[in-house]
Amino acid sequence: MRIVVLAGGIGGARFLRGLQQASPDADITVIGNTGDDIHLFGLKVCPDLDTVMYTLGGGINEEQGWGRTDETFHLKEELAAYGVGPEWFGLGDRDFATHIVRTQMLSAGFPLSAVTEALCDRWKPGVRLIPMSDDRVETHVAVTLPDSGERKVIHFQEYWVRLRASVPAEAVVPVGAEQSKPAPGVLEAIAEADVILFPPSNPVVSVGSILAVPGIREAIAEAGVPVVGLSPIVGDAPVRGMADKVLAAVGVESSAAAVAEHYGSGLLDGWLVDTVDASAVERVEAAGIRCRAVPLMMSDLDAAARMAAEALTLAEEVRGA
Ligand code: GDP
Ligand code: CA
Repeated sequence: MRIVVLAGGIGGARFLRGLQQASPDADITVIGNTGDDIHLFGLKVCPDLDTVMYTLGGGINEEQGWGRTDETFHLKEELAAYGVGPEWFGLGDRDFATHIVRTQMLSAGFPLSAVTEALCDRWKPGVRLIPMSDDRVETHVAVTLPDSGERKVIHFQEYWVRLRASVPAEAVVPVGAEQSKPAPGVLEAIAEADVILFPPSNPVVSVGSILAVPGIREAIAEAGVPVVGLSPIVGDAPVRGMADKVLAAVGVESSAAAVAEHYGSGLLDGWLVDTVDASAVERVEAAGIRCRAVPLMMSDLDAAARMAAEALTLAEEVRGA
């Protein structure tokens, strides 16, 4: 079975690990979000691609959910001693090596998709990981700074990591998306898929950024295969992080049903909500999306695998309908 998954960082990566356990023979293609990408210290950093690669390749810091295991921070300390920041973005010594290799290959003229493939030669994630686009797309957030009252557009990482989403996001803009093209292999994978899954990733700045690349949303809608998503919102709040802040920016309430309606029946055929949100099933089905309530907390690998199995079961139900 050929499965395509649109993934952000932590939510996407943990779900993918479950999917591999639930469906060991599946041929899985991951379309990774690159809207979170940022240039730091002259290096190209792709946080979501790396989170997927390290998680599936066994190099992730498990507690944190991002970054490398057994990490040290000497390089960052040395840079800080020169007064060179930003200090708010965590880059460890082992992680730096990935960004150096990536930047070196990009400078030599390789597209990001080829670079990602080369990095995965080391990590062997067991999936085909393709960035959504080889073109530069960077999510920015419009905010009003509390001290000065100044309205500013800042990089998503500055909003998320430095400000911890402490001020309202007034708008979320995937800068460069309109001019971008899907990376080689993305549309082909969608066209050849048997099932397309939206893991419990951020609907705005992860899955939303991928869908903002012209051609990807249309290809999914026209693929003619089941498209099933899992809610990242449980009990009206994000399980981890601050997804509610960016949902508010696009006028979507923080609930499992509202996120399903936001994707819409033009895109989604099936949607899983957590058992605590069982009362949302009716509303989602009224929107023309088949819905089931099952446990959606990825507390361990087996729990994530059960979620993946439920998503595949719902996909077969949709196919048979
Ligand atoms: P990021 O790029 O690292 O922020 O990761 P993603 O976009 O892939 O995923 C972030 C989303 O995953 C957040 O909105 C969380 O609510 C959601 N999430 C994290 N862990 C879980 C979980 O165990 N269950 C569910 N349902 N959602 C989760
Ligand atoms: Ca991310």
